[in-house]
Amino acid sequence: MMEPLLSRLRPRKEQGTYALSLVYGKTVYHYLISQDKAGKFCIPEGTKFDTLWQLVEYLKLKADGLIYRLKEACPNSSASAEAAAPTLPAHPSTFTQPQRRVDTLNSDGYTPEPARVASPEKQRPMPMDTSVYESPYSDPEELKDKKLFLKRENLLVADIELGCGNFGSVRQGVYRMRKKQIDVAIKVLKHSTEKADKDEMMREAQIMHQLDNPYIVRLIGVCQAEALMLVMEMAGGGPLHKFLIGKKEEIPVSNVAELLHQVAMGMKYLEEKNFVHRDLAARNVLLVNRHYAKISDFGLSKALGADDSYYTARSAGKWPLKWYAPECINFRKFSSRSDVWSYGVTMWEAFSYGQKPYKKMKGPEVLDFIKQGKRMECPPECPPEMYSLMSDCWTYKWEDRPDFLTVEQRMRNYYYSLASRAEGSPQCGQVAEAACG
Ligand code: ADP
Ligand code: MG
Repeated sequence: MMEPLLSRLRPRKEQGTYALSLVYGKTVYHYLISQDKAGKFCIPEGTKFDTLWQLVEYLKLKADGLIYRLKEACPNSSASAEAAAPTLPAHPSTFTQPQRRVDTLNSDGYTPEPARVASPEKQRPMPMDTSVYESPYSDPEELKDKKLFLKRENLLVADIELGCGNFGSVRQGVYRMRKKQIDVAIKVLKHSTEKADKDEMMREAQIMHQLDNPYIVRLIGVCQAEALMLVMEMAGGGPLHKFLIGKKEEIPVSNVAELLHQVAMGMKYLEEKNFVHRDLAARNVLLVNRHYAKISDFGLSKALGADDSYYTARSAGKWPLKWYAPECINFRKFSSRSDVWSYGVTMWEAFSYGQKPYKKMKGPEVLDFIKQGKRMECPPECPPEMYSLMSDCWTYKWEDRPDFLTVEQRMRNYYYSLASRAEGSPQCGQVAEAACG
């Protein structure tokens, strides 16, 4: 498909208007950017934005009436674009220096649509080579501006939905920092007059704000504008279970173990910090790419008191019963050990390539099943070492269950043993295929 490689933005004589030109194939297209009475920028019939920066970023994500979405700026247009656009940032002029986004999942550098995973893999990406391995605030210059509440003018919210839930929807966007701009996922609270909903979202933000780990989705901040918005780093590969469905042939067991090991590292960090997640499940493990997973959704999470090892819920709520340990359901008691139980269910989901746990059973029936000493069977593709670990995660008494320190170590040993076997073997792809039974 022909793609417009070059685009250029310049001011027109007529005050407040700009000409946007792009080359598509051999044709040059010109668009007028004008401001309405309220000062908002748009192309004719297009979506309106407060600043030119937001409009340009949006047009990179969506064509919105253009012949194609924006790709690269004309090399010689930088001066004019800078001069033209006082509202564009002085430093990483997004318009003049299109960023390569190495952490998205397809090979052309930038993916507007969520949940697309490139395959087969060309060059194996490492988590530390992505832009979401370290916090965007790890740069001391950026840290100077770190605040929980973000300015609306630095945020572009596109009408591209990454996911949805009871609270509203999660949209794709861009957040402009001092020296760079980053892709973000924005949880937008649906229009609600309920103070309780806002409080709940703020609680989620407060928890995430205290966490900083490569295997956990970081909070960038909160923005209170047309709605309450939780701005997070982007993990555009979608939830783990959806990614794995129907991919038995394509994604080897070693890749599944790699992702689960990363989840274990993130959970070990939470355990050390004395936080309980309370909603660990494959649906809440998001992928950055097929070799990089992050734990997300802290909507039910709690920080434990310094001397507490568990949290007691006042009353039972809308709970993911199939992921919950017996003591959660029986006594409303939540600890890192009950997260370990959920981790076992998450392992089962992953090694069964996205199947639903306890298939035909209803939530309350599962507890009976567990009380009788029964457990889910080993998924066909699951290596015996991994089934043994998930079975240990499903130890009835929480005191006897392993903690994440142990779980992470066992995951690591297993994953590294596969990796070293693969290195020494000419048939690396098959190394991880040893299945149960
Ligand atoms: P809920 O509390 O309703 O389960 P989640 O936090 O799990 O909400 O988000 C719902 C969906 O939104 C996810 O399944 C995912 O598709 C998308 N999503 C959430 N956070 C991100 C993120 N940081 N990056 C990309 N997509 C995300
Ligand atoms: Mg969720």
